[in-house]
Amino acid sequence: MSKMQNVRGTYDLYGEAKRKMKKVISAASTVVEKYGFEEIETPIFEFTEVFARNLGDTSDIVTKEMYCFEDRGGESLTLRPEGTAGVVRSFISEGMQQNLPVKLYYSGPMFRYERPQKGRQRQFTQFGVELLGVETPQADIEVISMAYEFIESLGLQGNVVVEINSLGDNESRNAYRKQLVAYLKEHYDELSEDSKARLERNPLRVLDSKEECDKNVVANAPLYQDSLNETSRQFFQAVLKGLDLLGIKYRVNNRLVRGLDYYSHTVFELVTDKLGAQGTVLAGGRYDGLVEQMGGGKVAGIGWACGVERLSMLLEGNVSLPRPIAVIPVGEDVADKALEVSYMLRRAGYRVEQSYSGNIKKRMIKANKVNAYKAVIIGSEEIADNIVTLKDLDSGEQKTVALDKLIEEIN
Ligand code: ATP
Ligand code: MG
Repeated sequence: MSKMQNVRGTYDLYGEAKRKMKKVISAASTVVEKYGFEEIETPIFEFTEVFARNLGDTSDIVTKEMYCFEDRGGESLTLRPEGTAGVVRSFISEGMQQNLPVKLYYSGPMFRYERPQKGRQRQFTQFGVELLGVETPQADIEVISMAYEFIESLGLQGNVVVEINSLGDNESRNAYRKQLVAYLKEHYDELSEDSKARLERNPLRVLDSKEECDKNVVANAPLYQDSLNETSRQFFQAVLKGLDLLGIKYRVNNRLVRGLDYYSHTVFELVTDKLGAQGTVLAGGRYDGLVEQMGGGKVAGIGWACGVERLSMLLEGNVSLPRPIAVIPVGEDVADKALEVSYMLRRAGYRVEQSYSGNIKKRMIKANKVNAYKAVIIGSEEIADNIVTLKDLDSGEQKTVALDKLIEEIN
């Protein structure tokens, strides 16, 4: 097989697909900046430990999806599979605890060795947010409403449902774990091999299994909400009340758990039925223990990340750039003049397609091909008097215009 092709599960992004992704990222940035979030860019690779220790050593990501390699200095490095661990690493190593709360957003490529399918790639793009230093449910409400507003700004609110659950605090989690283990042991023989191993090391993970046999067992497992203590229950109620207040519709899904170890209290996903098995377009939750676990102070955190490719696939219609103006010189002697006119129009803010070569007929065809809405035609006789022809390419109407009135005329 020739090596001159892309690696399985990776894609070249250009044209419409790239424009759609850019639209998603730009819509997200616009919304989260209104909430006071600032962009951060962390490195694409980190020491392997940053992920291996903090995402959970039985998580799918750590057990089978990470791209790890040894560099020439013998360090074990990993291409980031998600954004939170790197951002929290930076939060700690840059000393950002001094100035809480900290609100950060990021976007960029993530890498996971998965079985490629529609909406599941080995290199994919996430946009995510992290809010550090707020323990109260206001943070949860704000962060979820921000996700909703973002989805709405893309016109996708009709395609997506907010699902939410609470994993409670440590005490609730431990209580639930006991019940779950007892239940799973009764159904030990029905579990997948992976889940039998999880039962020993991290039974909660079984709830998140994608294997059919596990799903059948999980369907009748005890419900998380029955193990929540009073504090956790009140916290969750406050979050739901806030969403009600803002008119954000949600569905409490008692089966919702997230695949990583660091979550507590609120977890949520925005899901669609339009992408088959890859239906989660945005996912997040509270991670109050993570900063401390990574060696920082006791700092609460909550965040989400969305799959930019999955959201792009939901966008209908084309994302197009503004239509250009075509600048067309008639004859070589006015080529320089055409350059000047193009430069003037571009500096005035227009998109301009400069015509490079060919006779006038070919150039006009080209102008239509790039979907220009007007053509500025520069002839050698007229230009001597500083006059050009402005043609409306939709109506076909044309008129002569003094060069210094051109911008006025285009408006
Ligand atoms: P899934 O259950 O689909 O594997 P996940 O729980 O592993 O998702 P997260 O780690 O929560 O996903 O990542 C957040 C979002 O990033 C997902 O909801 C999804 O939209 C997107 N995403 C995750 N993995 C991929 C991938 N391999 N290809 C494309 N998008 C992905
Ligand atoms: Mg996954």
